Amino acid sequence: METIASLDKYRVDLTPAQVAHLQTLVAGQVSTNESVLDQHGRDESAFPPVRPSAVVMASTTEEVSRVLNYCNEQRIPVVAFGAGSSLEGHVLPLHGGVSLDLTPMNKIIEIRPDDLLVRVEAGVHRVALNEKLAVHGLFFSVDPGADATLGGMAATGASGTTTVRYGSMRENVMAMTAVMADGTIIRTGRETRKLSAGYDLTRLIVGSEGTLAVITELTLKLNGIPEKMAAAVVRFKNLSQGVEAAIAVVRSGIAIARCEFLDEKCIRNVNAHDNLTLTETPTLFFEFHGSPQGVAEDAESVKEIVTEFGASEFEWTTDEGARRKLWQARHNAYWAGIAANPGKRGVSTDMAVPLSKLAEAVSAADAILRADRFPYSVLGHVADGNFHCLIITDPEKPEELVEVRELTHKLTMKIIEMGGTCTGEHGIGSGKIDALIAETGKEAVGIMHAIKRTLDPHQILNPGKVLHYEAPLN
Ligand SMILES: Cc1cc2nc3c(=O)[nH]c(=O)nc-3n(C[C@H](O)[C@H](O)[C@H](O)COP(=O)(O)OP(=O)(O)OC[C@H]3O[C@@H](n4cnc5c(N)ncnc54)[C@H](O)[C@@H]3O)c2cc1C
Repeated sequence: METIASLDKYRVDLTPAQVAHLQTLVAGQVSTNESVLDQHGRDESAFPPVRPSAVVMASTTEEVSRVLNYCNEQRIPVVAFGAGSSLEGHVLPLHGGVSLDLTPMNKIIEIRPDDLLVRVEAGVHRVALNEKLAVHGLFFSVDPGADATLGGMAATGASGTTTVRYGSMRENVMAMTAVMADGTIIRTGRETRKLSAGYDLTRLIVGSEGTLAVITELTLKLNGIPEKMAAAVVRFKNLSQGVEAAIAVVRSGIAIARCEFLDEKCIRNVNAHDNLTLTETPTLFFEFHGSPQGVAEDAESVKEIVTEFGASEFEWTTDEGARRKLWQARHNAYWAGIAANPGKRGVSTDMAVPLSKLAEAVSAADAILRADRFPYSVLGHVADGNFHCLIITDPEKPEELVEVRELTHKLTMKIIEMGGTCTGEHGIGSGKIDALIAETGKEAVGIMHAIKRTLDPHQILNPGKVLHYEAPLN
């Protein structure tokens, strides 16, 4: 097996004839323009960029099929590209080859309010989808902090602030069209609310990070926009109080729609970034969905619980403008952290633990980071036991990145020891392959390799991600 550092010998650069042939397979552009290659050679992680050899813009499932069939025959690596917002080096074409951009596939094929479902092409962005759904009184719940594509979100098994109530991509993808490494087109799942037919290929491909198939169409579950939504903010003296209060709320069974924790540094950053005046102390943001009476009761019940954990200044509102502003600020927390450190980049951890371990895990991570030299802040989807530490590093000093990676590895190992996972939502990419082995064990990772070899024997699909690269035998 190869390590990432030694992959250069496998780099594939396309010949002019191969580029010309690819152009015969798609209606859109095949580009070797340097700025287009640069744009497809990086994601939102702090990993150094790697250029693909060519970028292919795909507009239909049939085009994706033709491109994969040709690349498989020619042994050209292919990395599917959505919005490029992933955080673990997922879209970096470590072996060169083709970056297959799915964003021209941006049609909302069919909205079916009676079935509470929508069919979309993989390149549709989540914000654009919700704008169209709002007209029908519907919304798609999964909301990562970036305006990602639905294909990228399915491929990373994304989740967001509403996962505690509505689930992640794993629960919300009902069916898909996917193209396998050799160009075979398959349909997985059904447009039914329940399904028990055969192996669950949908959930095998969801979260596979473009290493098993390229997703071209998705059928997604929808929800009705609630009659009333209320937002609440509550402050704590310290980190542990806030986390323990959030866990107590989850255990109480109150149907919270969102529950997010931001430490005092995050609050300072979002105040500056979004022009807010929130008190700079550890804070929980809540959201409640239901009838006017229901949300009022939920807010009052949560107030009673959090007060027992030393909460102060519990404020709640059903004002739509105030609610939107608050959640926009939460979604901007990553960018606010970067903006507070001009010229720097952020490395975001993505640890999740069983609820009973959350307070201990957050305190342990805080203690490890406090003892080091890098600025950081802590925030998270605490109701899901999932939290992020945003660590700031200087891209002009690559040695810092190495040091921060060692630090995050130490944090991750601590979390795995506590029964947690190295990634609750961002995925493995190229950054957490060893952590996956530590977490899952060699035997289970061996099964993953066997699946990869079966579905992609020439290892053309996003090689060097999720699993260490295994050079094919031919
Ligand atoms: C500010 C910020 C906040 C974020 N917050 C969250 C969060 O709350 N929750 C969360 O889960 N993530 C979060 N993320 C990470 C990121 O937004 C998600 O991982 C998202 O799902 C990636 O979607 P994308 O369209 O950008 O995919 P890309 O980055 O383009 O691709 C991601 C991976 O999916 C593969 N891929 C893309 N499209 C396809 C396809 N059609 N078929 C097969 N494989 C494909 C790629 O090859 C790659 O491996 C955040 C990122 C940022 C920058």
